[in-house]
Amino acid sequence: METTAFRATVLTLYPEMFPGHLGYSLAGKAMERRQWALDAVQIRDFAADKHRTVDDTPAGGGAGMVLKPDVLARAIDTVSTNDNRPRLLMSPRGKPLTQKRVRELADGEGVIIICGRFEGVDQRVIDARELEEVSIGDYVLSGGEPAALTVLDAIVRILPGVMGNDLSGLHESFEGGLLEHPHYTRPQEWEGREIPAVLTSGNHGAIEKWRHEQAVTLTRARRPDLLEKPVGEK
Ligand code: SAH
Repeated sequence: METTAFRATVLTLYPEMFPGHLGYSLAGKAMERRQWALDAVQIRDFAADKHRTVDDTPAGGGAGMVLKPDVLARAIDTVSTNDNRPRLLMSPRGKPLTQKRVRELADGEGVIIICGRFEGVDQRVIDARELEEVSIGDYVLSGGEPAALTVLDAIVRILPGVMGNDLSGLHESFEGGLLEHPHYTRPQEWEGREIPAVLTSGNHGAIEKWRHEQAVTLTRARRPDLLEKPVGEK
């Protein structure tokens, strides 16, 4: 029997949100082929009281609710016994996700992803279970679920054999520390706009050179910070 290569376990109050869009297209097909698997676990199942309480008011006062450390820790401990997968907590305070971290995660055996809700989770469980806080950008979502789906999307698409053409991953934005060059396809002329002549010249050296120049120009204009990054960080 074929063994599942990459295993994702997501802890959430909304397991029905998974696999979401990852059940479709290339990720969905890869899941059917058992190249990766997703298990969505209901955090509420680990609540101890008869009301199945998962949150409580913030110590020190203030708005909103906080996910209880005891409930979350029980959920984490149950899914991660004898398990070395990284434990990621989706969080706007986390380290912003990079393609470099995505590649590292894709090289591993899987991930455990914890989705926050409300104001977030009790700090003690983050410390005690050594959760790696990961952000998908400088904006605030209402819950960690779309962030988890985003992280998994980025990982799954680069798993071996998932993308139809494995080479197409190589030239992408961020892979060489640059944003990608622009793309064109037929028709040759559209609304009076032509495909740049070099791309239809058949001169592969010239095409590569043009694409690289375009990538550098675009990166300098839009993301000069990427050009500053040391090679290992890209
Ligand atoms: N009070 C928190 C925000 C909570 S938002 C703060 O100001 O930092 C509720 C949940 O949504 C978070 O626990 C987290 O799991 C998720 N979330 C929100 N924005 C996110 C982002 N940019 N990246 C990853 N997860 C995010």
